[in-house]
Amino acid sequence: MEMMNKRTDKIVAEIYRQRRSRSEDIAIERKEKYLSLYPELRQIEDKLSAENARIALSIISDGVAREGSPERDNINRERSEFLSRNRIPADYDSPVYTCVKCSDTGFDISDPEGRCSCYYDVIVPILFEYSGFPGISKYTFDSFNPELFSDNANEELNRSKNSPRKQILGIRDAAMRFADNIDAEHYPNMFFIGSPGTGKTFMAGCVVDKVVRKGRSVCYLSAPRMFDVISEYRTASAAFSPDKERLERASEAYSNLLNSDLLVIDDLGTETFNSNRQPELLAVVNHRTGCARKMIITTNLEMTDLMNFYDERLISRIYGAFSVYKFFGDDLRLRTRYNQITEI
Ligand SMILES: [Zn+2]
Repeated sequence: MEMMNKRTDKIVAEIYRQRRSRSEDIAIERKEKYLSLYPELRQIEDKLSAENARIALSIISDGVAREGSPERDNINRERSEFLSRNRIPADYDSPVYTCVKCSDTGFDISDPEGRCSCYYDVIVPILFEYSGFPGISKYTFDSFNPELFSDNANEELNRSKNSPRKQILGIRDAAMRFADNIDAEHYPNMFFIGSPGTGKTFMAGCVVDKVVRKGRSVCYLSAPRMFDVISEYRTASAAFSPDKERLERASEAYSNLLNSDLLVIDDLGTETFNSNRQPELLAVVNHRTGCARKMIITTNLEMTDLMNFYDERLISRIYGAFSVYKFFGDDLRLRTRYNQITEI
């Protein structure tokens, strides 16, 4: 949306423009090849052009529009006879578009979003590139393997009656629904809590994949990187005589953070502590919830740690606008970390 989508829209429009001009160039070349091979065809085409010009001029001189002329019908007949006699395709002089459905415009009025199916082939790689997500197309719901998670519940360890597998399958279903509802006005964001290696980033990546394939924009940032983007924007825009290029870059990254259809903040809690950061994060969350743009936040912290590190307004905002999902596994590394009950 906004700046980011303007930028991607521009890139897409340019790709289609190049496709059209390439097929038109090819058509001109192809036509010329036939005309030099068949001088008689060139004569017919010249006659046709002259007659078309005559009709156009007569409209200008007497103000009455004409559909054609008997003479033009004759030339057209002569032309099609010549083409079929010489086995020349009837559309030998027309551009051959990459997509015949939309003549390389990307538009299709019969589609609810006005997009030709070829549009997604064009936009999806661009959106993936712009998302900044590192595991592109490695993380998909199709490649998700619940067998990696144990089927044995360990209530003492995980503070849940669910086995890790049952838990992760529940989260997967919720994540799929979330991706399906990316455009919904009222739909809770996702907050993933769990130790490293329990599948949080993978699950976020599956959502990114599904959302991008719907043609929606994604911005993926680790928490430290997100705060860098914010402070770079503040610094660049507050400069007395801002470096134009730097400001442009900073504004684009900042706008992307605020306005992409989905924002993923990975590893909240790994950023260096700074008292300005909480209001900044709160402002991002508020802006995005205010315009119904979705978020996924992941953290390795326990809920108690979150409450210690972040102020109440932020925590209550998260409780209000996010559904909290607890990731767990059987990894021994995890044992000491799970000491707090956080149920879905
Ligand atoms: Zn098309």
